[in-house]
Amino acid sequence: MKLLEDRIRAEGKVREGGVLKVDSFLNHQMDVSLFREMALEWRRLFAGEEITKILTIEASGIAIAAVAAEVFGCRVLFAKKSKTKNIAGEVYTTRVESFTHGNISDVIVSKDYLLPTDRVLIIDDFLANGAALAGLCDLVRQSGATLVGAGIAIEKAFQPGGKMLREKGVRIESLARIASMDEKNGVVFAD
Ligand code: 5GP
Repeated sequence: MKLLEDRIRAEGKVREGGVLKVDSFLNHQMDVSLFREMALEWRRLFAGEEITKILTIEASGIAIAAVAAEVFGCRVLFAKKSKTKNIAGEVYTTRVESFTHGNISDVIVSKDYLLPTDRVLIIDDFLANGAALAGLCDLVRQSGATLVGAGIAIEKAFQPGGKMLREKGVRIESLARIASMDEKNGVVFAD
């Protein structure tokens, strides 16, 4: 998506360790009109698919997922990173290792809000090693809902997550795919 690629070129900052900072429009300050254009693009890409729920993970996925949910006309559910032991039976739970923070969290959603009848579109800001997306896919699998696919804003295609999950049959639509990036040369997009 040219609009997003242009914005990354103009405002993205490549940090050491393969981290792209997009704090001016996505992860700290947020450009909601850009989010709306992104949501419209996901709706175009997933046209013809019935979607009854959008699922994301806190915290940085929530805002883009909320805008997408309005465009898709459904509710949005975010998986919570849980610090307390949860009572088995009330929640679906999975473990996710954070790329940016390096820690492992238990991630939960209430069984009341992810139903076997749901047709789920996962939305997230970044796809890197794929741990966050794999965890969300696992929650959908546990619930018996149908996974329609995943809409990702920025896929770092030089990390293994996208390939690994596509090989498992997950449909992933990324709006900007980064082939490589470094502090000297900036970002190079994949086709
Ligand atoms: P993964 O689980 O695919 O390794 O990483 C996905 C999560 O890590 C995303 O939800 C995002 O919050 C965070 N993340 C991964 N790579 C980056 C990056 O380069 N920049 C930023 N800002 N967040 C990232």
